[in-house]
Amino acid sequence: MKSLLPSPQERVLLDGLLSGVCFLNTERLITYWNDAAEFFLGYRAEDVVGKPCCDWISGTDLNLVSFCSCQGSLESCIPASPISGTVPIVTNLRHRDGYWIPLELSSFPLLGRRGKVVGAALVFGSVRESRDLENRLSEMSQIAYCDALTNIPNRRYLEEKLQEALRLWEEERRSFVGVMCDIDFFKNVNDSYGHDVGDEVLKEVARVLSHKLRASDVVGRWGGEEFLILLKNISAEDLVRRLDRLREAIGATVIQSGMVEVRVTMSFGATEPRKGETPASLLSRMDDCLYRSKREGRNRVTFEPA
Ligand code: GH3
Ligand code: MG
Ligand code: MG
Repeated sequence: MKSLLPSPQERVLLDGLLSGVCFLNTERLITYWNDAAEFFLGYRAEDVVGKPCCDWISGTDLNLVSFCSCQGSLESCIPASPISGTVPIVTNLRHRDGYWIPLELSSFPLLGRRGKVVGAALVFGSVRESRDLENRLSEMSQIAYCDALTNIPNRRYLEEKLQEALRLWEEERRSFVGVMCDIDFFKNVNDSYGHDVGDEVLKEVARVLSHKLRASDVVGRWGGEEFLILLKNISAEDLVRRLDRLREAIGATVIQSGMVEVRVTMSFGATEPRKGETPASLLSRMDDCLYRSKREGRNRVTFEPA
């Protein structure tokens, strides 16, 4: 059995909940069962972990017609959107002692590295509590893809989007350009004004980048003072013009932090995918272009077409 367990931090959260939570792996075997699940259904984790979910979570509809919450396949436990989970259903679940309890049941996909579905979480509880939990799980998914400092998408999200863009390019010829950009002499900002001012600069740069791009474009913080942008469906001329405007907008932004006013510039490296491209090879060419912008004086755009 593939093991699938919450992290110690998630376990603290899940065990403290008033909703039953049960994790299933892709074979629909139970891998985790929280304290509230025991409270509601009477089975202890030792009774159920490693066993098929349908043996333990059997429900009926309100007419007491029996059904399996996963309907024989994990897919039905996994909604299309990993953020929202399935719409909760009210069902009767059977307690170990044989009686039925009306509970609200919803399910969420559990995502592994690169967004692959590695299992599902079933959540059941009284109506109000499961609503709270749903909000909490939705928050957790958002946290997983959000950079805590700048509040824009993080590297994990970008890695997934880059992979997806490459797949769509490969399979459907949907064009895109990958852009790596980096704040010039950012170390000087930290050294001159302190790390907190540096953080303010990062937040403001992130804000400008995300406000200047189209909704269909993707931008996020790749790490440190580097940001990755994916621009969809754009001609070479448009690309250079738009990146130049973005570069000028960054250079014109005055970041105020207390009595201090800071301005920064950014260098950009942009390129298009080529045949047989992998995320790593595309990223490496973006980096080469970025490095060229740096070497040639910074505050500039280098674009290498396919
Ligand atoms: P270049 O123009 O060549 O890019 O020079 P640079 O000074 O920007 O590059 P370098 O890689 O030497 O320095 C990057 C600095 O970014 C060093 C690191 O301390 C700082 N940094 C990385 N992450 C953060 C952060 O989250 N907050 C702050 N304040 N600084 C950060
Ligand atoms: Mg830099
Ligand atoms: Mg850097």
